[in-house]
Amino acid sequence: MKRIYLDYAATTPLDPRVKNVMDAYETEKFGNASSIHAFGFDALAAVDVAKDALAKFLNCLPSEIIFTSGATESNNLAIQGVVLAAHHNLKPDSSMVRKHLVTSAFEHPSVLETFRFLEKQGFDVTYLSVGKDGVIDPEEVKKVVTDRTLLISVMYVNNEIGTIQPITKIGRIAKKVGAVFHVDAVQAVNYLDCDVDRLKADFITLSSHKVYGPKGVGALYVRKGTALNPLTYGGEQEYGLRPGTYNVAAIAGFGEAIKLAQADMRQEQGRVAQLKDELIGDLGARLPHARINGSMQLRIANNLHITVPGVDGESLILKLDLAGYAVSMGSACSAGSIEPSHVLQAIGCPDQDIKSSIRVTLGRETTVEDVKGFVETLEKLCK
Ligand code: PMP
Repeated sequence: MKRIYLDYAATTPLDPRVKNVMDAYETEKFGNASSIHAFGFDALAAVDVAKDALAKFLNCLPSEIIFTSGATESNNLAIQGVVLAAHHNLKPDSSMVRKHLVTSAFEHPSVLETFRFLEKQGFDVTYLSVGKDGVIDPEEVKKVVTDRTLLISVMYVNNEIGTIQPITKIGRIAKKVGAVFHVDAVQAVNYLDCDVDRLKADFITLSSHKVYGPKGVGALYVRKGTALNPLTYGGEQEYGLRPGTYNVAAIAGFGEAIKLAQADMRQEQGRVAQLKDELIGDLGARLPHARINGSMQLRIANNLHITVPGVDGESLILKLDLAGYAVSMGSACSAGSIEPSHVLQAIGCPDQDIKSSIRVTLGRETTVEDVKGFVETLEKLCK
């Protein structure tokens, strides 16, 4: 049975062209990028090439890129690092003016849980609400920020429902009150421009495995001059902000993956959006009672989050898997019980609908046949 992968928001397959670039750094070019001999220089050159590729994509300086182990680490480094730099320890000093932090209620857990940790340390955290359409209202941001706001962190595209946030508007508000602005752009990279100046961002988080690169490598863009403390110590790599031997093969792969995504972005965006429209059309014809969650306009090209009222989402996913289709719930699953998605709760989705929802995300290898076959199978399984 041919297996059809429709879970590109969870991870993407490694592009063979990326693997090709990586191979040499796993074998003959194995040097430590910090060594001052030819092996080291070869490795360092690969890190520099990757930084150039990311800098071109983000429209920033290569020296503003820091490689990490992935987006979870980048998010932690940005959020905790800003707080540490401002307060020199994690206890908010009452004499310090800026101890107010802002994020949204539907961020990725690597952001949300970091803010919850800081809240326990005594920082004031505002969790922005999210509209029924899955979009944050910049007017609410305007209302909650003050001259005590240190940091605003908002994701570019939500990883469950695929809605696009008004990042530039929020960035402008951050600038006005002198707060720093962090953007988790993990789910945006394949289809949206991530120019740091257009987004008005001081920090941007990226992850390689969502862009057809290897797993376990990510990046944090840090605007020149923005105060940031490291979370780990013990080396000079990445200006001491992220010490440790470079994972050269993975970094080289990440650079190549970003380059390939940028080169093809417009074309791939159009192709995938067309497939998504096809899916919406078929869904309307075969399962007219199904609903799509989140704004249809402010939505990333490859995401459809579908509620089929009355159907158990978890067993539907298992049945789809048996039929050869890999999709997801888009929410945490532990010990056989599904935690209701905080994202769907944030947009006011009733519990019974949350349990009846699935996330379908398309990508480079998705074809019209895959989409048609998927909706056909979905209809059969939902009867
Ligand atoms: N942020 C978002 C929006 C994500 O979708 C993910 C991955 N699900 C992460 C952060 C964490 O990325 P990583 O796997 O690289 O730690």
